Parts: sequence; C-alpha cells; structure tokens
Amino acid sequence: MKNQINNQSDFLNVTLNQVSQIYVGKDHCCRCGCGGTYVSTSFMKGARSEVNDSLAQRRLTKAQKLVREGAFAEYEGSYANIVSGDNRAICVYFDDIA
Ligand SMILES: [Zn+2]
Repeated sequence: MKNQINNQSDFLNVTLNQVSQIYVGKDHCCRCGCGGTYVSTSFMKGARSEVNDSLAQRRLTKAQKLVREGAFAEYEGSYANIVSGDNRAICVYFDDIA
C-alpha cells in the first residue's frame, strides 16, 4: 500500500485504511491538541487519541471535498494539511499504519 501522499491526486484517492489520525482545529497553532482535536483510526499502530473510524471517515470525506472545491492544501508525504476556513485546518496523517 502506498503511504506517501505527495500531491492532490494521491490525496483524492486516499482511503481510510491509509490514514492513522486526523486533526481538526486551528491551522497556525502548535499541534499538541490545545488548538484542536485528534481522532485515530483502527489502522493506526499505537493510537494516541480516541479511535473512531466513522468520525475519521467523515473528516476525510470533508477534507477531500474541500480539496476538490479548491481549498489550499499542502502534501508532505506523511501528512496532508487542508485549509478549511479562517485559520482552520484538517490535517490527515499517513504515518504509523499497523
Ligand atoms: Zn499546544
């Protein structure tokens, strides 16, 4: 399974089993969790936040919809950060897959 997401095409083809965690919250903020919330998928090795595949799928679907609609996004291989509003982001992580 390819688990480096480097461009929009890769991202639009991502399925939940490639996703370890998804952050929703402030964009320009540290990502410790003080400015947003994380959800883990059951595909993550050693989950560090609540495991909730249905919530993670909703966040992934929303992020992919935003990208299709032209949202600014950065594809960094192990994660993709999608701007979802004024200083808001959805960040999808692809590392630590079991
Ligand atoms: Zn913090």
